[in-house]
Amino acid sequence: MFENLNERLERSFQLLKGQGKITEINVAETLKDVRRALLDADVNFTIAKSFTNTVKEKALGQNVLTALKPNQLMVKIVHDELAELMGSTQVDINIEGKPSVILIAGLQGSGKTTFSGKLALLLKTKRAKNPLLVACDVYRPAAIDQLKVLGEQIGVPVFADIESKNPVKIAKDAIKQAKANGNDLVIVDTAGRLAIDEEMMKEIEAVKKAIEPSEILFVVDSMTGQDAVNTAKEFNDRLDFDGVVLTKLDGDTRGGAALSIRSIVNKPIKFVGTGEKMEALDVFHPSRMADRILGMGDIVSLVERAQDQFDADEARKLQKKIAKNQFNFNDFLSQISQIKKMGNLKDLASMIPGVGKALKNVDIDDDAFKGVEAIIFSMTPAERETPTLINGSRRKRIADGSGSTIQDVNRLIKQFDETRKLMKMMTKGGNMSQMMGNMG
Ligand code: GDP
Repeated sequence: MFENLNERLERSFQLLKGQGKITEINVAETLKDVRRALLDADVNFTIAKSFTNTVKEKALGQNVLTALKPNQLMVKIVHDELAELMGSTQVDINIEGKPSVILIAGLQGSGKTTFSGKLALLLKTKRAKNPLLVACDVYRPAAIDQLKVLGEQIGVPVFADIESKNPVKIAKDAIKQAKANGNDLVIVDTAGRLAIDEEMMKEIEAVKKAIEPSEILFVVDSMTGQDAVNTAKEFNDRLDFDGVVLTKLDGDTRGGAALSIRSIVNKPIKFVGTGEKMEALDVFHPSRMADRILGMGDIVSLVERAQDQFDADEARKLQKKIAKNQFNFNDFLSQISQIKKMGNLKDLASMIPGVGKALKNVDIDDDAFKGVEAIIFSMTPAERETPTLINGSRRKRIADGSGSTIQDVNRLIKQFDETRKLMKMMTKGGNMSQMMGNMG
């Protein structure tokens, strides 16, 4: 995410390294570079210009007031201004209604349907809501099927009416059904077109008028850069939406949309999509995003994601097993599946400060666990339960069964033994730095 911008900004800050203080001259040079980096990231020209002007003013103003070195001061000011540009504080969605109705708008392919599913799952699991998803795309039967599949996957009912060609009626009927069935939240996924089109706009305006949503979210593909910003403007002029959802931030998006949209439409970004899986949705926090843009990682979000996936009860049980040295390959498998649920591996790694950059050119395969899983699946239940059973001949059988080599099996068992030792040490009052020390 934003790797290029991150690298370019860092290079700009280097220009101030070794300088005794910020001066008109060195700040101008640095900010020229920062502005170019922003423009190359597809940030709107006017925004880039006013951004660097503000940073300049602040840098010269704060120069004498701080003990920070010029380059550190510049990083801090740029960080705060980036956060400001993206809205500075996090803005929640309104889900107070009974039922509350959320209308989802955007172009075709922006990720509306995927987001509708993700949002339903998030509000169900984190805010104890009982959502109903509504398929209002009367043009593409495939869109209805897609929503039904997602609904099934996350255990959320989907309202659709393939006979009807009237989105207003479908939405109204859905709300009636929600009231009758006790769904306190209705998420209406609408039809999109490939480009802005008058008929589509009229249709969604009519739906808005008929159902009076408490929240209208505009979904946009962050990979489309300035186009995303222009589309946002047109949708906002017609719908006066409440918030923006930026999707596909896991791709190599340059960052322009994330940085420009807020100033252009004056509406907050509320969520970001970071993958195709239903769990790959983050609440948007401007300051954390600024951290990530500047390569400072986003450890807070990483920890939150981990907490979401790891069940406290399970964790306690696991801790007991570890303390008794009973951690086995079944536990290992379930750990792998929990990590996989947290999302794309490279994306996760990039949330750790400093790691994103180090991994820039490293290909982390999301199938990295496949080989490991295949080996464990080739073990008998007894072997998984009691790894010490696995002797030489068993290793050969496991290797053959999983299509791997004996070396692969040996390596996994060795890693497993080491993990087990480390975990035991940690539960015995060891700490993270001790563990890190042992790993290195
Ligand atoms: P819609 O036409 O607006 O409903 O768009 P879809 O929800 O069908 O999404 C279009 C494509 O983008 C699908 O292949 C999705 O899997 C993919 N997609 C949606 N959100 C994300 C995201 O955050 N990251 C990635 N990598 N893909 C996404």
